[in-house]
Amino acid sequence: VDGKMQYLFDEDGRRYLDAFGGIATVCCGHCHPDVIEAIVNQAKKIQHSTVLYLNHAIADFAEALASKMPGDLKVVFFTNSGTEANELALMIARLYTGSHDIISLRNGYHGNAAATMGATAQSNWKFNVVQVRKLKYYIERWRDILFHGLSVTFTHLQCVQTGVHHALNPDPYRGAFGSDGEKYARDIQETIDYGTTGRVAGFISEAIQGVGGIVELAPGYLPAAYDMVRKAGGLCIADEVQAGVARTGSHFWGFEGQGVIPDIVTMAKGIGNGIPIGAVVTTPEIAKVLTRRSYFNTFGGNPVSTAAGHAVLKVLEKEKLQENAFVVGSYLKEKLNALKEKHDIIGDVRGKGLLLGVELVTDRQKKTPAKAEIAQVMNHMKDMGVLVGKGGFFGNVFRVTPPLCFSKEDSDYMIEVMDIALSKL
Ligand code: PMP
Repeated sequence: VDGKMQYLFDEDGRRYLDAFGGIATVCCGHCHPDVIEAIVNQAKKIQHSTVLYLNHAIADFAEALASKMPGDLKVVFFTNSGTEANELALMIARLYTGSHDIISLRNGYHGNAAATMGATAQSNWKFNVVQVRKLKYYIERWRDILFHGLSVTFTHLQCVQTGVHHALNPDPYRGAFGSDGEKYARDIQETIDYGTTGRVAGFISEAIQGVGGIVELAPGYLPAAYDMVRKAGGLCIADEVQAGVARTGSHFWGFEGQGVIPDIVTMAKGIGNGIPIGAVVTTPEIAKVLTRRSYFNTFGGNPVSTAAGHAVLKVLEKEKLQENAFVVGSYLKEKLNALKEKHDIIGDVRGKGLLLGVELVTDRQKKTPAKAEIAQVMNHMKDMGVLVGKGGFFGNVFRVTPPLCFSKEDSDYMIEVMDIALSKL
């Protein structure tokens, strides 16, 4: 019911160390005073729709964000969420190239609307036709109460999930080619050659898969994949919803860790420190395609949201939070690796900065997902006052993604608690 920096408090006043919520919401910390002040000041001045009247708060944040981008990535469109940002990015890629096919990575997550659910490549996040039929049945039954547009939406959903191809995931832990990024990238070429006309609209991927269980793409993967996609006329989209905004510590954006410059970058979540905002950044040349049709988003990038986003960028700078993510993240990863030496159930420790994953397996050779055990450890850790996340395709990966103000002392505490919980298994 309350939050303060890296801590949360329940209704009994009990304190929890939040080693998870940084990813979804609060990159600078819960209720960061500078961000709150910016939100309140803007709300006292004016709050309105982005598309009706111009306001400095919107342009100021766009300019600050563009200054954080490499190359010619200088045009910013705002949305309310990561899903909306990726929907817009996919639409821009299709409009710009005149092609329809999109390539995304297996195990990736990009959102839950029509096109993004197509790009998402984990069965548990997708609708299947039977489910859609069931939903349609209920909608038909309650037609008088629900507005009928819904059944049209679901039919549409089935159609637009086509035109997406899911390429081999360059997963160093579970993938066939270990850490050889270039070998995995050959599947992009094969997907283009065998699954499309030879021309594609684009390729979308995270640099480190978040929902997928903090999977760092094998080194060398993105440069090779981008090259192949561009030769097929496609645009390269970096989904930075989780890996972006200083979290990886070594770089401000996740894609920079692979040494590439995308054509379109999308972001959301932590960039507003809890206030809903997403963004699409692209080049002036690509952005021009939106003059060919209307694009309208009533609240995407409204003055209060952009004031929050701008305040986040200032806090990251003022409190050197990227550096903190690097220093504390490296320290924490070392400690997690030491825990791996002690507990056989830890199969893999991975990630960068404060975007870390710990995969639990009951058999290190077979990599059998330890699903029941992870739930037990997670609950036990919660009882001891530490919150970590859980994810990955099999739901057996701890996601350690705290607010970027997380300290070495917090890391020690978290490790001690995790050690006790693992020992109790
Ligand atoms: N992309 C990635 C990488 C994400 O992790 C998420 C959210 N989990 C999204 C897109 C969608 O963002 P939102 O929930 O804000 O729509």
